[in-house]
Amino acid sequence: MFSRCGFSTALRQVQRGYTTSRVVDARRNSFKPYLLLGAGLCLGGYGYLSFSQKRVAGIDSDCYTPLSIQEIRDVNHDSKIYKLAYSDQEARAEIPVSSSVYVKDDSMQIMRPFTPISSSDSKGYLELLIKLYPDGSMSQFLKDRTVGDVLEVRGPIVNWEYQANAYKAIGMVAGGSGITPMYQIIRGILQNPEDNTRVSLIYANRSEEDILLRQELEYLAKLHPKQFTLYFVVDKAPETREWSQGVGFVTREMISQHLPKPAGDVKILVCGPDGMMRHISGPRARDWSQGGVSGLLKELGYSAEQVYKF
Ligand SMILES: Cc1cc2nc3c(=O)[nH]c(=O)nc-3n(C[C@H](O)[C@H](O)[C@H](O)COP(=O)(O)OP(=O)(O)OC[C@H]3O[C@@H](n4cnc5c(N)ncnc54)[C@H](O)[C@@H]3O)c2cc1C
Repeated sequence: MFSRCGFSTALRQVQRGYTTSRVVDARRNSFKPYLLLGAGLCLGGYGYLSFSQKRVAGIDSDCYTPLSIQEIRDVNHDSKIYKLAYSDQEARAEIPVSSSVYVKDDSMQIMRPFTPISSSDSKGYLELLIKLYPDGSMSQFLKDRTVGDVLEVRGPIVNWEYQANAYKAIGMVAGGSGITPMYQIIRGILQNPEDNTRVSLIYANRSEEDILLRQELEYLAKLHPKQFTLYFVVDKAPETREWSQGVGFVTREMISQHLPKPAGDVKILVCGPDGMMRHISGPRARDWSQGGVSGLLKELGYSAEQVYKF
């Protein structure tokens, strides 16, 4: 009778009595007869669920869930962290590594993927770190959102499925907001005491001020010096302070020096703006499949199987 989504939405509706969401409003009308029946089922089922499921997902990969914005924090001049509250404060989304969620704007009929940066263990909320582009459609929508507004979120959608100890070493090249999937993976690895995978990250940005999640990354590198290394590259070195890390474009030498050499048990992950992707690994194919590897990684001898492009 109910699709999985319809049922879970109805279940959430009964649990939280939402009235503000467009999606839920639209669904509520078509679900009215079912909702009464659903309410009965839910009341009986809810007791069972709350005993049988210790962890309740706060979002659903089959349909959009309205999440209210609990907090918006400026990270730098163009990026913000959106903290989104689950209706059930006990809910954990159990975000698999690595995956993203879709946010949609019904008025513009657009949706964009974002990578949660909150730990999958975080209870009651989900955090997205989002760079806002002056001419971006979703950016315009998000720029006008304030605390208390609702964002429609669907996920998690697995992008690249990571398994602990599947590789001896993982090398990463990230640019700008392309750090979010890397951060999710780094955290996933370092939070698991059974996972011995070594991770090295080259993170490129225009300037030092543009570096996202810097404190968090430096903290993790300090806490796990043998397992996680970090190398920042900026287009322009700071003028007033000494800068001992990379300057300019990411080079062959930087990759040779800081990332694991090509090998069967090594994976290189790349995520960033188009120009950087072309330079490092080549872009994804037009059908959004991985395509071949080109750029610096090809020159250095990495095969297509050893590279993943986000
Ligand atoms: C799997 C996945 C996960 C993602 N996770 C995140 C995340 O966690 N945080 C985040 O901020 N973004 C993330 N993105 C990018 C995000 O989905 C949007 O593409 C981005 O926010 C721009 O959307 P928009 O509608 O504002 O811009 P659009 O209207 O799509 O684009 C308008 C203009 O914005 C600029 N632009 C758009 N995207 C980029 C880009 N990636 N690099 C450089 N310029 C760009 C271009 O100038 C473009 O012409 C992710 C993308 C993917 C595929």
